[in-house]
Amino acid sequence: MQDITQRKTDEQRKDDFLSIASHELKTPVTTLKGSLQLLDRYKGHLEHPIVPKLIDQANVSVMKIINLMDDLLNTTRTNEGQLHLNKTKFVLVEMLNQCCHHVRIEGKHQLVLQGDQQLQVFADEARIDQVVVNLVNNAAKYAANSTEIYLIVEDLGDKARVSVKDAGPGIPEDKLPHLFERYYRADYSGIQYSGLGLGLYISAEIVKRHGGEIGVTSQLGLGSTFWFTLPY
Ligand code: ADP
Repeated sequence: MQDITQRKTDEQRKDDFLSIASHELKTPVTTLKGSLQLLDRYKGHLEHPIVPKLIDQANVSVMKIINLMDDLLNTTRTNEGQLHLNKTKFVLVEMLNQCCHHVRIEGKHQLVLQGDQQLQVFADEARIDQVVVNLVNNAAKYAANSTEIYLIVEDLGDKARVSVKDAGPGIPEDKLPHLFERYYRADYSGIQYSGLGLGLYISAEIVKRHGGEIGVTSQLGLGSTFWFTLPY
C-alpha cells in the first residue's frame, strides 16, 4: 500500500492551474481576434475614426497576453533554478519614477513617491522593476478605488525597504500567510478578478534570490501594504 494523496493533490492543482491559465489566455486572444476582424472590414478606409481605437484595443490585448506569458515563463525558470541576476548599482527612486507608466497613463491611480531620494542598491534592476510592477498592478486591480498608491523607500541601516501601499479593501488575516504561494488566489470579496496566482510567487522568488524578504501587512477596510527588502 502506498499513500498517493500528495501526488493526487499536486495533479489536481496542476489541472486546475492549466484550466485557469487557458481561460485567462483565451479572453485576451478572443478580444484581439474581435479587434482584428473589425479592422479587416476597414482595410480600405484607414482614415475612419474607429481604426485607431481598434488598434489601441488590439495593443491592450497583446500586452495582456505578453504579461501572462511572461508570468508562465518566469515560473518555469524559477522552478528550474534558472533565474539569473544581472546586478548593478542604481538609485531606487529613479527606478520607481520610471516604472509603471501604464498605470500613470491610464490615469485611474496616482503613484505617490515618498522617502529616501538618494538610496542606492546593488541588485538586478529589471527584476526589481518587475516586482514593483507586480505589486502596483495588484494594488490597481484589487484596490480599484484607492486613488493614491504610495511607493515608499526606506533605509533600514543594513538594507533598503520598498513598500507599495494602497487604501483598498484589505485582506483577511487568515489569507495573508498564503499569498506568496504558487497558484494561490484569495477569493474573499465575491468579485471575480482575473489572474493566475503567480505574480506574488514570482516576486517572492526574485526577492529571495537577492537575499531579501517580502511581506504584507493588511487591515480589512483600510488597505494593504506589500513590502520587500534588499540587503546592501
Ligand atoms: P493574481 O493577482 O494573479 O491572483 P498574485 O500572486 O499577484 O496573483 O496575488 C495573489 C492574491 O493576493 C490575489 O488573488 C489577491 O486576492 C491578493 N492580493 C494581492 N495584492 C492585493 C492587494 N493590493 N489588495 C488586496 N488583495 C491583494
